[in-house]
Amino acid sequence: MADTFQESLWHATAEPAPELPCWTEDVSADIAVVGAGYLGLASALNLAESGARVVVLEAEEVGHGASGRNTGFVVPSFVTGLGPREVKALLGPAHGERLCDLVGRSGDRVFELINKYDIRCDAKQSGWLQPAHSAERVGFLEQRRADWLQHGKTMQLLDRGTTVRLTGAPGYHGALLDKSGGHLNPLSYARGLARAAVGAGATIRTGARVTELHRDGQAWTLRMPAGQVRADKVLLATNALDADLAPRVARSMVPLVVHQIAAKVSDPASRQTILPENHCVSDTRRDIFAYRWTPDGRLVTGGAAAWAPGATGRLRRSLADRLRRLLPSLGPLTVDFAWSGIIGLTRDRLPRVFEVESGLFAALGCNGRGLALSTALGSELAAFLRGDERGLSVPVSRPAPMRGHLVARHLPSILLPWARLTDRLETGPALDRKPPRRAGTDNEKGSLQ
Ligand SMILES: Cc1cc2nc3c(=O)[nH]c(=O)nc-3n(C[C@H](O)[C@H](O)[C@H](O)COP(=O)(O)OP(=O)(O)OC[C@H]3O[C@@H](n4cnc5c(N)ncnc54)[C@H](O)[C@@H]3O)c2cc1C
Repeated sequence: MADTFQESLWHATAEPAPELPCWTEDVSADIAVVGAGYLGLASALNLAESGARVVVLEAEEVGHGASGRNTGFVVPSFVTGLGPREVKALLGPAHGERLCDLVGRSGDRVFELINKYDIRCDAKQSGWLQPAHSAERVGFLEQRRADWLQHGKTMQLLDRGTTVRLTGAPGYHGALLDKSGGHLNPLSYARGLARAAVGAGATIRTGARVTELHRDGQAWTLRMPAGQVRADKVLLATNALDADLAPRVARSMVPLVVHQIAAKVSDPASRQTILPENHCVSDTRRDIFAYRWTPDGRLVTGGAAAWAPGATGRLRRSLADRLRRLLPSLGPLTVDFAWSGIIGLTRDRLPRVFEVESGLFAALGCNGRGLALSTALGSELAAFLRGDERGLSVPVSRPAPMRGHLVARHLPSILLPWARLTDRLETGPALDRKPPRRAGTDNEKGSLQ
């Protein structure tokens, strides 16, 4: 798959990457972190602040993985199918309670961190909306709100009229509003975290793909094409996408390619009718419909492609069509950015912390909700790696490769048509019409179709 990192809206609009000093010699550290996404950077920042000697090794550049390509939603919640009740059933009461507390507060943590380090990333704590795509899903949201309330987290359940006004989407039946959520420029946020980590004393080396890990007495040696690092402990924060480095870790989750488009909206009135209070939206569909404004008047949305020939090529047009269909007051669109990234999915959609071998750890699997969760988990991981006895919200286990991984890795895309059909049946036919084409006004770049 072609690398689209430089084709993203965020690459075009983010704050500049931090200047990192050239690195000419091999070094030793207390802890080496592999991967400069949110998880690696938040861990490194907290480690450096606590006085540890920490080195971050990044194969490409800061934020080159999912952290620089996502939609930039700060969502202090798990994926749609998981709430506090389900998480406690999966993890048991002790870890379940802790993880819910961590996730519930994770939105505020992100915005506090941004303020503390003065990270310029167009951050808006304007709230996250989760609208119900069917009348039945309103009951589900009501239950979810009650479950979160037991964790001291208040969310508002909005009626249909308010939801339609706040989303600009006439098909919704109600929504949850979490005011501690919001949105930001994801690549600027990653770069800001890196700047803060360096300021706190961490060393970050980019263009440093770790190709080999080797235990050598009490310490680990990490080899790169140019140079090596010795460290007492290692944290792999590679989103498990590097199958060569730790194969058992990589096989513990499956990759899902998610495509994003950014569309310039030329009618200024759209800004008043669609998300007038600048929320970000991800709804209750299985094939989630998510959208937000950017400061420069673009709508960003995305989705995955089904496992079928030509599906990826068609997806970009169908993402724009979906915007028009579900947001009928939308004026003409110009889709001028399209890119993709990879989400690592675990079987139960919960994050994992593995002890691969003594002193070698891997943290991964924030699924599609990694921005706030990785930020929060990073501070816990730092304390854990420093020997904090209180442990983590996520139980530490040995890597457990998924059975039938070769097939399992394609299942999310194979099952997508079924998910879309079910969504459609639940939504009803009225919203399933072809969107109105605005002949002569819409302008989508041919290369992006
Ligand atoms: C399209 C898309 C939209 C999303 N939208 C949202 C959203 O709106 N809100 C939300 O909360 N979450 C969202 N997510 C999920 C979120 O982006 C991820 O959960 C999160 O960024 C993962 O962070 P990470 O640090 O674990 O991994 P990554 O950001 O993927 O970082 C891993 C890093 O490791 C590096 N690396 C890999 N192998 C090596 C090696 N051998 N040596 C050195 N470095 C290596 C990579 O280059 C990469 O920079 C989205 C994801 C995608 C793809």
